[in-house]
Amino acid sequence: MDCIFCKIANGEIPSKKVYEDDTVIAFYDLEPQAPTHILVIPKQHITSAADITSENSAVIAHIYEVIAKLSKDLKLENGFRVVNNCGEDGGQTVMHIHFHLMAGRKLAWPAG
Ligand code: AMP
Ligand code: ZN
Repeated sequence: MDCIFCKIANGEIPSKKVYEDDTVIAFYDLEPQAPTHILVIPKQHITSAADITSENSAVIAHIYEVIAKLSKDLKLENGFRVVNNCGEDGGQTVMHIHFHLMAGRKLAWPAG
């Protein structure tokens, strides 16, 4: 499958990794929108939040554990935002589910 995040997960495409385990990888976004901007993805291909099922949801729960760990390791004590863009209107451009972990500045709300 021609999926850029599958290729990052299997090492075919390099990334600046901050965390990796058997099921999840986290790496810095190429075009950061905040001083800290990390993408956390499952290694298995799940297209979007619309494709989460009882069979694959454990890895999504694990992603939030990884986010909590990263927030401590990276000392994001001022807070952070987790964003999951889903589908065209949601602004999803890479069709492999990913969670943006953004921090380091006051983020506007509601998001455009
Ligand atoms: P989204 O618009 O929610 O689908 O987010 C996709 C994100 O992936 C964007 O923030 C891009 O900057 C980022 N991105 C695309 N290709 C790469 C890559 N090779 N390495 C790191 N980040 C990437
Ligand atoms: Zn993929």
